[in-house]
Amino acid sequence: MSRKAVGTVDKTEKICYNSFITCNMEVDPMSTILLAGGAGYIGSHTAVSLLDSGHDVIIADNFSNSCPEAVSRVEKITGKSVKLYELDIKDTDKLSAVFSENNVDAVIHFAGLKAVGESVEKPVVYYRNNIDTTLSLLECMSRYGVKNIIFSSSATVYGEENPVPYTEEMKRGTCTNPYGWTKVMMEQILEDAAKADPELSVVLLRYFNPIGAHESGMIGEDPQGIPNNLMPYVAQVAVGRREKLTIFGRDYETPDGTCRRDYIHVCDLADGHVKAIDYALDHKGTEVFNLGTGTPYSVTEIVETFQRVNGIEIPHVYGSRRAGDLPESYANADKALSILGWKTRRDLADMCRDTWNWQKNNPDGYRK
Ligand code: NAD
Ligand code: UDP
Repeated sequence: MSRKAVGTVDKTEKICYNSFITCNMEVDPMSTILLAGGAGYIGSHTAVSLLDSGHDVIIADNFSNSCPEAVSRVEKITGKSVKLYELDIKDTDKLSAVFSENNVDAVIHFAGLKAVGESVEKPVVYYRNNIDTTLSLLECMSRYGVKNIIFSSSATVYGEENPVPYTEEMKRGTCTNPYGWTKVMMEQILEDAAKADPELSVVLLRYFNPIGAHESGMIGEDPQGIPNNLMPYVAQVAVGRREKLTIFGRDYETPDGTCRRDYIHVCDLADGHVKAIDYALDHKGTEVFNLGTGTPYSVTEIVETFQRVNGIEIPHVYGSRRAGDLPESYANADKALSILGWKTRRDLADMCRDTWNWQKNNPDGYRK
């Protein structure tokens, strides 16, 4: 096993950026949470929320879409150390060693490939990575008696048929790409595992559209190559790395003709994982939660808000529709509020401001 220790920071160096949950959520007793794929965008923000809440965090990542610097920055923000393993989650032998060396209470499974377009080009790579990481985690959990897993699912599982706003009891729909199908399949695999083992607790978190960054500007989204997603593209136009944004379609049946999505601040999303961990540790069986705001914004509204909040012009043109895009996708977020006691705290202006704060401080992402 290749274990890679990341330098830990002196506790006195902690920079105080309290997330909203820290004031009232000191965890007792402390749990040890393994974040598979925890060096990535959502994982690194979740690591901050978990550490701020008193949990211990272990990260296992192969850095296929991230880098160790993100973990060092998590340590700097929180003043706490993270145990870091560089490994492929599919490698069950190496993953086993992580479980044997640590008393893991719960796993959060972020370790997936996530580019929709790439999944159409390389379906086998996507099925292999996303399904095998899930099976490997479940096998190790079974071997070491770990009974709690939180899974990074997606609103994409609602597919094309379901009407908005999406509620958790709707049937999973028909996806338009292999990435979406891996999420549908992984949900099914996890549900089946929980049916077979009555001690297992599975929480399926269906994320909507995470954007924004930690308010410190030290961690954020760092896509490799040309961004596929809207907000990183806007941010790279703002910082001068891209000339202009193309808005995909303005003839949808929406108020301004552009698609509407449920954008959620990544720190609110991260806080949702802390609530989900607390829930999982107390329950058994499978539970599904939407993590969204419940309020959709159009592409044009995103661009206008980014420009207004940050005082930067985003040159943009309107192009044709992007294949596979739904006109609208947004959550009914009532269940997460009533059962987890979670709701979003940050608005669209916060999302745009924090995205720009990250991008302007790190014009080339983590690669300086
Ligand atoms: P990300 O790419 O930033 O993070 C994923 C991490 O997993 C990366 O650090 C990557 O290196 C790691 N990884 C991938 N395969 C691995 C493997 N075989 N072994 C070890 N590490 C591996 O992506 P993210 O935006 O943080 O997303 C996290 C999860 O949330 C993914 O499963 C993604 O599908 C899901 N999700 C993301 C969004 C979004 O818009 N960002 C929306 C819905 C769901
Ligand atoms: N979008 C766009 N231009 C871009 C990237 C995205 O107009 O360069 C639009 C896209 O068509 C969709 C919305 O922005 O309507 C959100 O897209 P994203 O890829 O961020 O998330 P999705 O909801 O597709 O997962």
